[in-house]
Amino acid sequence: MTSSNILVLYTGGTIGMQASASGLAPATGFEARVRAQQSHQAERLPNWSFRELLPPIDSANMSQDNWLAMVEAIRQGTEAGCDGVLVLHGTDTLAYSAAALSFLLLGLAVPVVLTGSMLPAGAANSDAWPNLFGAMQALHNGVAPGVHLYFNGALMHGARVSKLSSEAFDAFQVVPRQRQGTRLSELPAAIDFRQPRQPVNLLSLPLVPGLRASHLRALLDSGVQGLVLECYGCGTGPSDNAELLEVLRAAHARGVVLAAISQCAQGHVEFGVYAAGSQLASVGLISAGGMTREAALGKLFALLGAGLAQDEVERLFSLDLCGERAE
Ligand code: ASP
Repeated sequence: MTSSNILVLYTGGTIGMQASASGLAPATGFEARVRAQQSHQAERLPNWSFRELLPPIDSANMSQDNWLAMVEAIRQGTEAGCDGVLVLHGTDTLAYSAAALSFLLLGLAVPVVLTGSMLPAGAANSDAWPNLFGAMQALHNGVAPGVHLYFNGALMHGARVSKLSSEAFDAFQVVPRQRQGTRLSELPAAIDFRQPRQPVNLLSLPLVPGLRASHLRALLDSGVQGLVLECYGCGTGPSDNAELLEVLRAAHARGVVLAAISQCAQGHVEFGVYAAGSQLASVGLISAGGMTREAALGKLFALLGAGLAQDEVERLFSLDLCGERAE
């Protein structure tokens, strides 16, 4: 759909940062700079209104509360008549936010595009204005409803993208991963974007040789409600460690949602390939297929944050909700 009246939601990030004694720091007042720059732009752009989420942050400080504040601002903006949203965001956690918003905004009828930049606006050869005005123009030309990331000239699926470089302008990529799953036929009201959500105690943990049952027990006894376990290859883990498997089984039995992703950049989970994977499935882990860490965490947050029971979270997690695990 084409957008003619967009909300620009500024959360902070390098794009609007200013130099300080301790390095680049978030700054308010970005709207005036965008308006001044727009007079030098040749493209036809949509009308836009601007809102800052205060205080602007370095996205290294991003939290679930910030995501819920974004959802609320976007809801208010669309109720006020915006037909598209552009979120300006730091790049460090941009992929996490794009994934979380993909699930938190299910059912929203207008497109949401996130962008940021590797260099601040105004710096020599910065990517800030091309990213910002390029994203606006993409919205003006037409973007499907759902959450997307626009960066370095490319429009990417919000729940499939990762930051792969800390320096390059094409820092964000959709890494090809096998995607299979059944698309949810109808969106349950319980996970619609209007559903109130609570913060969730969530973490992800990479398996590494030497991981002990006691490490996992300490983590799972900390009150965590969901854990994304980053497994080896196609979903294997230390299957001959009975104590470790028992820690996982007991956590699952008391309601913790355990999701498995592959720690291979181009991997996906298929438990049945190895006995070492089947063991993980038998103690209660569910497969995230080829989903990224960012997507698995964002999806768990949206489902657990809506207060759904463990079995319903696991059922919906295994389906494709917005193109994160199926074509
Ligand atoms: N640390 C910055 C942030 O994520 C990096 C950036 O925006 O590029 O806010």
